Amino acid sequence: MKYINEIDIKGKTVLCRFDFNVPLDEDLHITDDRRIKAALPTINYALDEDARVIVIAHLGRPEGKVIDSLSLKPVARRLSRLLGKEVVLAKDCIGDEVKTLIQGMEPHCILLLENLRFHIEEAENSDDFARELAGYADVYVDDAFGNAHRTHASNVGITKFAKKCCAGFLMKRELNYFSTTLKNPLRPFVAIIGGSKVSDKLEALANLIRRVDKMIIGGGMAFTFLKAMGHEVGTSLVEENLVNMARRGIKIAKERGVKLYLPVDCVIAEEADPKAVTKIVPVQEIDPNWMGLDIGPASIALFREALSDAKTIMWNGPMGVFEIDAFSMGTFSMVHTVAQSHALTIVGGGDTDVAVHRAGQSDYITYISTGGGASLELLEGKKLPAVKALNEWEKKMD
Ligand code: AMP
Repeated sequence: MKYINEIDIKGKTVLCRFDFNVPLDEDLHITDDRRIKAALPTINYALDEDARVIVIAHLGRPEGKVIDSLSLKPVARRLSRLLGKEVVLAKDCIGDEVKTLIQGMEPHCILLLENLRFHIEEAENSDDFARELAGYADVYVDDAFGNAHRTHASNVGITKFAKKCCAGFLMKRELNYFSTTLKNPLRPFVAIIGGSKVSDKLEALANLIRRVDKMIIGGGMAFTFLKAMGHEVGTSLVEENLVNMARRGIKIAKERGVKLYLPVDCVIAEEADPKAVTKIVPVQEIDPNWMGLDIGPASIALFREALSDAKTIMWNGPMGVFEIDAFSMGTFSMVHTVAQSHALTIVGGGDTDVAVHRAGQSDYITYISTGGGASLELLEGKKLPAVKALNEWEKKMD
């Protein structure tokens, strides 16, 4: 597939799909605008090429209904402020009014169309909906990495009808950091996988174990592995149906010479509550009615040591229930270790991203993904539907 700078968009009308699914507070103020900022290089490039820029995006999950609180109004305001120019927001993303607005666009104009997901046809990948969107422009540009694992009309269906298709600069960065690094990492290559459940990351674990030199497992999912090793883990999060799978994973790691690091101690409590009494114990001594909610200091030291010679680090998932202060030390220590390392450091989106920002260390990480779900699918070794669609369009043109 081609990127926006590899095709001629001079003076053309471009339709850019971005992921502007930003968090809002109860007063509908944007609390984190990184996804909007990440779109600026593509928009600025198009403006520099004297293009007319139509922007399409979604916000939340309105499931085909018009919900005022999920309007892209706050996005239009923020985008306008970041670009220092007017961004017109259309009342809808399809229909005659939109077409009239587009006809009136001058070069360098930006028109943001209202939330795509106000129409159920978007998530249904409807041909009619995709055809209408594609008809607005000379060139379709997909830069919505955070949505690239979905098969929707605005990112997959649209490539059937668009005159020209390409990807934007954010897509390029994301694919470069995830796909390219996974295929050809500087070694030692260490993966850190955490978060709540093994089941959510089973495919990523299976893919990574074939590629890494070391794997660190923390968070809730570590307890299924510790159980597989014969430890009593009290009431910690365990997926009983995956204990055997975890045992196999440990065996595969051994056979492949991959060093697998699991917590050796943990912070336990009777419940995941800010007021709960906590203890730090070796993993061999978890009380029957207590649960492991963070990695302990010995694990922090062990993981730090495992990371000390890394040249590439990929991290997805917190080491504990970091949302609660008492169980956040493991995750925040890991943030600092990763940030201070001399490796190429790549962090998946979602909770890990939140932890890195909360620790104020985002400037010291090589790359933080804007898409949790999409980056996880890349870790799983899957091809993203939106990227596949762009590649197929390119193949068709050959
Ligand atoms: P994920 O979305 O799979 O990356 O999981 C992130 C969630 O895992 C966070 O909300 C954490 O609170 C949770 N988590 C991390 N460690 C544990 C643990 N030991 N027990 C239960 N939940 C955990």
